[in-house]
Amino acid sequence: MSAKVLSGTELAKKIKNELKVTVEDLKKNGVHPCLAVVIVGNDPASRIYVNLKKNDCAEIGIESQEYALDESTTEEELLALIHKLNNDPKISAILVQSPVPKHIDEDRVILAINPEKDADCFHPVNVGKLMIGKPEFLPCTPAGVMELLEENGIDVAGKECVVVGRSNIVGKPQAIMLLSKNGTVTVCHSRTKNLEEVCKRADILVAAVGRAEIIKGSFVKPGAVVIDVGVSKTAEDKLVGDVDFAAVSEIASAVTKVTGGVGPMTRAVLMKNTVKAAKLQANKG
Ligand code: NAP
Repeated sequence: MSAKVLSGTELAKKIKNELKVTVEDLKKNGVHPCLAVVIVGNDPASRIYVNLKKNDCAEIGIESQEYALDESTTEEELLALIHKLNNDPKISAILVQSPVPKHIDEDRVILAINPEKDADCFHPVNVGKLMIGKPEFLPCTPAGVMELLEENGIDVAGKECVVVGRSNIVGKPQAIMLLSKNGTVTVCHSRTKNLEEVCKRADILVAAVGRAEIIKGSFVKPGAVVIDVGVSKTAEDKLVGDVDFAAVSEIASAVTKVTGGVGPMTRAVLMKNTVKAAKLQANKG
């Protein structure tokens, strides 16, 4: 079997085109979505991600404001900037590119962002709303995965779903979102015994680990849908996912690739959240 490759690039393009129209309409009504992008330090990967997000904004007609802070920026200085952005009516949404330097407590940074401007949906208020089934914003990567499934007609209800990884930004919210669509969800992590056996139960398998090709062909049930969130670099500086694509695409019915799979979807949902934040604030104001 040769699996269908689920294209995040194509779906993200479609979402961005729809957002472009929404933003044009908002602007006609005096609402100008604006994303504040904060980057601290000189991490090259973070710089690439920030540039991609700014390009997405430009494509859609969302204004972006970059705040590039020195590596030596103190936690207090960063929190003061967030406070200023929280209170700036021109700013619809705020994103602080992760990771921040080690001397800054990322949890305090997340807590400082006004939940109404929480582009990444990391704030506990927004995580709580997702948990109780009343989300305002959606966590970008897991929501991107859900959109890819939906777009490709992959129904989650009643399916065995296995999520490998339990981080706050991917694994846990992914599990909640699959559960909210009536999947039967198992979450695996570094202490899971018999990972291969558990993964093999999955009709829908989402890998969000960050270990190159940890998901082998033998982990996959014939006909399963396999979504690869992970991104790692090989010794040769090549980007690879958590999934052994060559082997798994022979067994699965559908699979995503690194790159062009989940990555573009993550950014598309970030843009959706920014537009949503602008709308929410306009309706309040
Ligand atoms: P993370 O915070 O490092 O979490 C990794 C998870 O994998 C943890 O829950 C960990 O378990 C689990 N794990 C580690 N080794 C394992 C093993 N041998 N077997 C089973 N589980 C294992 O990472 P993250 O932020 O969730 O990101 C995961 C990956 O997705 C990374 O490669 C990241 O770069 C990528 N990512 C991609 C996008 C995108 O847009 N494409 C977005 C976000 C993240 P414990 O909890 O027990 O430690």
